[in-house]
Amino acid sequence: CPAVRKGSSIVFPDSGALNACPELRGRPTGPCSAVCIPVSFMGRALGVLHSTSPALRVVDSEVTAKLSTLATQVGARIGTVRAFQKTQLQAATDGLTGLTNRRTFENELRSLLSTGAPMAVAIADLDRFKKLNDTAGHDAGDRALRHFARVVRQTTRGSDLVARYGGEEFVFAFQKVDREGAKALLDRLREVLAASHRGDVPMFTCSFGVTDTSFGSDVAELIAIADDALYRAKQNGRDRV
Ligand code: GH3
Ligand code: MG
Ligand code: MG
Repeated sequence: CPAVRKGSSIVFPDSGALNACPELRGRPTGPCSAVCIPVSFMGRALGVLHSTSPALRVVDSEVTAKLSTLATQVGARIGTVRAFQKTQLQAATDGLTGLTNRRTFENELRSLLSTGAPMAVAIADLDRFKKLNDTAGHDAGDRALRHFARVVRQTTRGSDLVARYGGEEFVFAFQKVDREGAKALLDRLREVLAASHRGDVPMFTCSFGVTDTSFGSDVAELIAIADDALYRAKQNGRDRV
């Protein structure tokens, strides 16, 4: 867009002219004139406000001034909404894995639980992760965490809540699933993980603890029961649900 590139308004009196914007040519409504005003926010182009009239009948300067004011207001509004959305997304997301973070998970789970919907809650802890960091390096540890998040995304559904709970711990909430159902899902996740390792990610396994809403009713209680089960999975040899 020439107006966006130039960073200021351009008036094209006739779309048939050689130097007219190519976007104006060959319109089904025939030749036109146009005023094109870039829409931006804090120096970043967002788009163009563009108004046409019949060819050679360019809108007067008063209308152009009004359109410019409108473009400024629209830019400020769109820019603010986008910045707000970005901030909100960042505040809800774990920076390393791109998964939801703990606070957002707990809020979403609390709101689901308040509807009385049945679900299973699970907590995962990567096995001997300190050793992986010590032997392969912290960067390899980070790659392993990102890899685990990819496997999690691959093996869960949009209706499941999944989050990085902290460190090398992850949490899940599976809607309309009991703990046996969740165990089957997580055993499959373990199998996918075991089959998925790539060259730059060291092998690792994961242990899980699972419970469901027939054993507890609030977030803290369900997480505590799942955490207890996780402890037993570790005691019994790891790499298990
Ligand atoms: P276990 O099988 O009993 O869970 O053993 P573990 O070594 O995984 O348990 P522990 O809780 O002692 O160690 C967790 C390690 O995870 C410690 C820390 O170095 C590592 N870790 C936590 N967060 C990160 C991270 O963001 N990046 C990397 N690379 N490592 C992390
Ligand atoms: Mg841990
Ligand atoms: Mg661990």
